[in-house]
Formats: sequence, structure tokens, C-alpha cells
Amino acid sequence: MIRALFSAGDHAWPEYLEALPPAFHAAGLTVDLSRTHAPDTVDYIIAAPNGPVQDFTPYTSCKAVLNLWAGVEDIVSNETLTQPLARMVDPGLTDGMVEWVVGHVMRHHLGMDAHILGQDGVWRTDFPPLAQERPVTILGLGALGAACAEMLTTLGFPVTGWSRSQKTLQGVTCLSGDAGLTHALTGAEIVVLLLPLTDATTDILNSETLPLLADGAFIINPGRGPLIDDAALIAALDSNIAHATLDVFRTEPLPESHPFWKHAQVTVTPHIASTTRAKTAATCIAENIRRGEVGEPFLHLVDRTKGY
Ligand code: NAP
Repeated sequence: MIRALFSAGDHAWPEYLEALPPAFHAAGLTVDLSRTHAPDTVDYIIAAPNGPVQDFTPYTSCKAVLNLWAGVEDIVSNETLTQPLARMVDPGLTDGMVEWVVGHVMRHHLGMDAHILGQDGVWRTDFPPLAQERPVTILGLGALGAACAEMLTTLGFPVTGWSRSQKTLQGVTCLSGDAGLTHALTGAEIVVLLLPLTDATTDILNSETLPLLADGAFIINPGRGPLIDDAALIAALDSNIAHATLDVFRTEPLPESHPFWKHAQVTVTPHIASTTRAKTAATCIAENIRRGEVGEPFLHLVDRTKGY
């Protein structure tokens, strides 16, 4: 009998209690799933970074910690976590992110605000350009960034993507490295941030990189708040940046006093771009446990040296 400990908030337990057993069954696994196993009997921990288990030391038989979130910045530096750590790559999470990103790209591309907010009797007949005339840059070409790049390319946008290692994605101009970042940002009209938060990505949009974007550019950040230097962004909203749609922040919930709330060129969404969907995530969790049991390599292992 495999023992899996579920370590996440109370709200998550009912949906995973429903979704995980059929996924285990489909993977041919017999799993005792609980929130209260004795630590030294646990084979796998299914964990949210803010879940009850913060000290992994007593979990001496644990073969892997399976993170419920795509982002790992709050768990990767936990020194008690010495077991393999897998992050979440969930088709439901990816689909949700693609829908959110495409929706916000289209809002800015089509200039929807002028008509939604401007119900003022003015007959505005400006035609938006076609998607093929609107260069979009995506920073981060991982599970989420690559899926967004693919969908935006299908819609006709010329998409440039930037990642640490060089990628090849059909129809996407793929860049990497410092020179690649400058190239990716220069003249971009819409920039989407889907990087993980690491030392290397903190403040990647700052007072030196923001001016590279086109005049009237839009920024969409569903990645992590500290990817952008807040003060530099607020300054850039007075020059070349027309609008920033921000889903993530240095402090969450975003404090009421933060200038982003009242800024006319900022849209705040409360970290709802996407979320792990229990039904599809359960299949991913079961697959990794199956792999652990037959000695196959785990999927989506976090590289501790890179921090994601
Ligand atoms: P992922 O698969 O690990 O992809 C990360 C991408 O960023 C990879 O392409 C990686 O390059 C690139 N990257 C990392 N460090 C870099 C650096 N220093 N320079 C250039 N590129 C770098 O992650 P994911 O699943 O796509 O998720 C991305 C992030 O989205 C998560 O970390 C999380 O912060 C955020 N997220 C937000 C929400 C929300 O609701 N707002 C939901 C889920 C996730 P390589 O390909 O070369 O490794």
C-alpha cells in the first residue's frame, strides 16, 4: 500500500479527495490518501507551498514531494525539503492561462476599453490593426508561455518568445540570452510575462528594459509580481507604456494603499489568471507516483540550482 499525504489548505481537500482516487485507480495504483499519516510512513507528499507541512525532515521514507502549483519559489528554498520536488504541469492550468492571456491580449489589441468605458455618445471609428501587425513578446517559453505563444500565433500575432535555453516552436521567433532579451523587448507592442520568480528573473522589467518596448505598449503579467520593478513601471506609464494588466504582486493581496489600484493605466486582477484544476492535476500526480513506484524518472522535476 502506497501512502500519500495531502498537505494543502482545507478548501482544496474535498476536490482532491474526489479527483485523486479515480486517477490512482486508472494508473493501477493502490494509494492510502490522507491528511494525517504518521510522517515516517509517508511515501509521497502532495503539497501546496503554503500547506501545513513546512518541515519535511520527519518524512524519512518520502520518495518525492509533488507540488500542486506551477510556481515553486516559496518551496524550492526550503532546506528541510531534500526529496525530489516536482512542480505542477497540468493541462487544465495551462488551458486556463491560455484563455486568460488571450483574453487580455485581445482586449488591448482591439482597444476594447475605448468602447466599453467610452459610452459617451462619441462615434469612434478607429479600426484596430490586424493581429499580424501587432508584435507580441512572451518572456518564458515553458509549459504556460509556449502554450500561449502557440495560441497567439494561431490567431495571427507575430510572436517572439524568450527563454533561458534556446527553443524551437513552430511560427514563433525564439530567443535566449541577454542579447535575446533586448531583441525580444525592442519594439514589442504587447509583452506577456510567464517567467518563474528566481534571482535571475527578479525586476527583469526595469528602468532599463521598459523603454525598449514600443510607444503605447501593453504589459500583461500573470507570472509573478517581482518580475517587474513597480516604481519603474509607474514611471514608464507616463512615457511609453500605455497600460499594464497585472495579476500578481510583490505583496498579495495587493495592499489597499498601493498606487496600482487607482492608476488609470493599470488593471489589477487578484491572482486569478489560472489555477491547478484538481481533475486534470490528479492524473499528473498519479503518473508521477506510478513513475516513482516503477523506478522511472519523475516528470517536471525542479532544478534546485536554477530555482524552478
Ligand atoms: P516553466 O515550464 O518552468 O517555464 C518557465 C520558462 O521561463 C521556461 O521557458 C524557462 O526557460 C524560462 N526561464 C526561467 N528562468 C529564465 C531566465 N533566467 N532567463 C530566461 N528564461 C528563463 O513554468 P510554467 O509552468 O510555464 O510557469 C511559469 C510561471 O507562471 C510560474 O513559475 C508561476 O510563477 C506563474 N503562474 C502564475 C499563475 C497565475 O495564476 N497567475 C498560475 C500558474 C503559474 P527554459 O525553458 O530554458 O528552462
